[in-house]
Amino acid sequence: MTNVFDNILGLIGNTPMVKLNEVTKDIPAKVYAKIESFNPGHSTKDRIALHIIEAAERKGLLTPGATIVETTSGNTGFSIAMVSIIKGYKCILSVSDKTKPEKIAYLKALGATVYVCPASVPADDPRSYYEVAKKIAAETPNSIYINQYFNELNIDAHYSSTGPEIWEQTEGKITHLFACTGTGGTLSGSAKFLKEKNPDIKIIGVDADGSILKTYHETGEIDPSEIHSYQIEGLGKNLIPSALLFDRIDHFVRVNDEMSAYCTREIALKEAIMGGYTTGAVLQALRQYANANPFSENDLVVLIFPDHGSRYITKVYSDKWMEEQGFINNCVHNYEEVFKT
Ligand code: PMP
Repeated sequence: MTNVFDNILGLIGNTPMVKLNEVTKDIPAKVYAKIESFNPGHSTKDRIALHIIEAAERKGLLTPGATIVETTSGNTGFSIAMVSIIKGYKCILSVSDKTKPEKIAYLKALGATVYVCPASVPADDPRSYYEVAKKIAAETPNSIYINQYFNELNIDAHYSSTGPEIWEQTEGKITHLFACTGTGGTLSGSAKFLKEKNPDIKIIGVDADGSILKTYHETGEIDPSEIHSYQIEGLGKNLIPSALLFDRIDHFVRVNDEMSAYCTREIALKEAIMGGYTTGAVLQALRQYANANPFSENDLVVLIFPDHGSRYITKVYSDKWMEEQGFINNCVHNYEEVFKT
């Protein structure tokens, strides 16, 4: 039987690449998007959840009925919950009280136990979602704490899957890779593999306005005055993750909420690809980079599209939300326009 799997985990990885045509018209290079929403949990995080849990199994750290703990309200939580169901583990997640109710419902529907913690306390406060997760992991026998920002297996997951897939899919012709950096795992692991194959491949990280990663890459210093809140979820950070291999990254581009939102909507409208907010961020980064470093027609660029737009229907795909942010919304038309002559 072909294309038949023992369970949903068999679908993780081997995601397709799609050529971008309309949104990259002004760029002479060939640009392909690697669409990670084709993973069964609809994001790139399926790869790390499976990889980290199976590594722990191999080390004998997990026996039947074990518990997987992580602090996340995002894609990693969905992926860990999915893997836990199939493997018969309990999944405990701590999230901040800013997490939208629909996300908590989604995590609970996948069998996770969710602890909601105050967002307003510092990270080292015992009530913070970091400390709550650490305490649960420390006090629960037969458990592991995924700790994606400081787990080198996060890099390894992409070194052993995403990187080789990109190399094979482009038949080794890739010249530039762009990805958003949150934990840094996706870009670092892929870059580590690709630079081993061809050190000339340019690796470009995408950071958020409000995050410290770009400046740290350039100066080795953390500039606390750069830290402020922003709307794009999943990229940028106010600390330095060890899953981010700064020495494999050639350049960082910083993007903002407004342009990334337009780009996300533009990709949906012109390429018919519903991606998450960081999908627009990576397109914005490509355009900014291209302005300063023109591409040639021999270049082959890969952008990682990390997750699916269905998670952002009440955010970047909501006209009301766009208006509330003060973003001009050219994306939809009022029905009254049809009656205008
Ligand atoms: N985009 C989204 C939507 C994400 O959830 C993440 C993960 N935080 C990223 C991009 C960045 O991936 P990584 O953590 O591997 O750097």
